[in-house]
Formats: sequence, C-alpha cells, structure tokens
Amino acid sequence: MTVPSPLVNTMTLGAWTVHAIQAGGQALDGGAMFGVVPKPLWERRIPADARNRIPLGMRCLLVEHEGGLVLIDNGAGNKETAKFLDIYGIDNAGANGRTLLEDGLRSLGHRPEDVVLMIDTHLHFDHAGGNTFRDAGGRIVPTFPRARYVVQRGEYEWARHTNERTAASYFPPNFEPVREAGLLDLVEGDRDIVPGIRVVHTPGHTPHHQSVLLESQGEIAFYLGDLVPTAAHLPLPWIMGYDVEPLVTLETKRKYLRRAADENWLLIFEHDASVAWGRVVHDGKSYRLEDGSGAKGQGPWGG
Ligand SMILES: [Zn+2]
Repeated sequence: MTVPSPLVNTMTLGAWTVHAIQAGGQALDGGAMFGVVPKPLWERRIPADARNRIPLGMRCLLVEHEGGLVLIDNGAGNKETAKFLDIYGIDNAGANGRTLLEDGLRSLGHRPEDVVLMIDTHLHFDHAGGNTFRDAGGRIVPTFPRARYVVQRGEYEWARHTNERTAASYFPPNFEPVREAGLLDLVEGDRDIVPGIRVVHTPGHTPHHQSVLLESQGEIAFYLGDLVPTAAHLPLPWIMGYDVEPLVTLETKRKYLRRAADENWLLIFEHDASVAWGRVVHDGKSYRLEDGSGAKGQGPWGG
C-alpha cells in the first residue's frame, strides 16, 4: 500500500481555483479493474503487484466557488478496520485520527466546516466513506456539518436496498447519519446545483451514478467519478468488472467522451494514481489523452 503523490494538484478553471486532493491510496485487483480486457494488455498500462493488485488513487475535487467551497467525493473515511483497509489496499490515515483528505484541506488553509456543498458521485465506500467520520468518542457524525450533501435519489435507494452482489460496497454509516442530520439533498437526473456546477446522470457503474460538469468563463471540466476511473480506462471497452451494467457504461462513455473530445473538456480521473486530469482525443481507433499517456486500444480493445 502506498500513498499517491502529490497529495494536491491545483489549477485554474475560468474564475475558479480548483484543487484535486488525494484522499488516500488504494490497491485493487487488476482483473476486476479492467473487466474483460486481457491482462497482457492492461498490465502494460498499470503493472500489478505480487497479489495482482494495481495502485490507484481516491482523488476528490475541491472548487473555490464564489458561493463557498464545493467538494466532490471524499474517499474512504476513517471508520473501517485494519483488516478491511488491507483487503482493499487502502492507505489513507491522516493526522489526528482523520484522513489524508482533511490533511489536504488543511494544507490549503481550509477546514471541513468550510465546505458548503458536498457532491457524491455515488455512495460506494471508496467515494462516500468520508461523508461521515468516527470522532474521538466513537460517534459517527457528518464530516461537513455545514454542507448540503447532493446525491441522486435513485443511488440513495439503491444503497439502502442492496442485494448479494452490491452489499459489499454500501455501508449505512456512510450516508444515514447525513440523512438523520437533515443535510441530504436528493436530486434526480441532470441538474444545476450552483452556478456553473451541474450533476449529470452517467449510469453503468451503478444505475444512478452521477458525474459533475464544471464550467466557468467558457472553460469546461468533467469529473468522471467511476465512469472512467483512470486514464487507462479511456478506450470504450476498458470497463471495470465492478460495474453492475457494463453495457450501459459503454453507451454512457460513448456519449460523453465524444462530447469531451468535441468540446475540449478537461477530464478529471478519480482513481488514477498519477494522472489527475487531461484532454481526450480520438485517434481514429480509440480515445486517448492528447499527450499520449494512458491506454491505447488495440484490435477489438480499441474504440
Ligand atoms: Zn464505485
């Protein structure tokens, strides 16, 4: 297990300063991360360790918006056991019993109490585990007590009604204390949340997964969430084995990567251990980053 570096990447998007903050490192089975793509192809992009795991990040996005701080996703939180953290290769411990996300916020001069809007792409534990934290007294409370938390209504229902395949990803302590505190705003479909920040329904990984479109002064960025978790997942058929509706993911990728290439969006990769963001091009065979990093599709694995 290793912590990705740097912890924080900063850029300007139109009028906003935007920070990508690594909430920790993660290591997951490479086969699961690349679904039906053969290992000889994916291991050239991201080599696996002795346990067949590949290094990943848990990159959150902090926007210094004119209306206050907006955060997108928050990593795995501080509530899980050492055994759990080992199984999922999570390395996210921060100062004072908290996580690297809080360390990253502090390094930027911010506190969790300063966040006014918390957008969850979905409620899987490695994206929304930091919605809440276990305090020194053992109580589980919202991490961002002054924020409105925005979640798709369908995702919240999906998280509350799990089956044998989905239950390992959804833990009520990650979202029920938020609802009980009256901080949860359930939305449906595409919707402007604050000026320039729009949630976009991007189904496939889960049926109600959402990505986030950010636009300021004509500059556009797209926080993909688990739609395209790393730059290596840009070719259309490179889809995670974790996705519950992989053929839906395929069509969602087809739709949004075309727009991203046509409209010069900056794509932000949540799970990539090293590539925070980049612009995508289609080279006639496959989508790839314009600087050539990430995967190149080959034969039937292009697109
Ligand atoms: Zn997920």
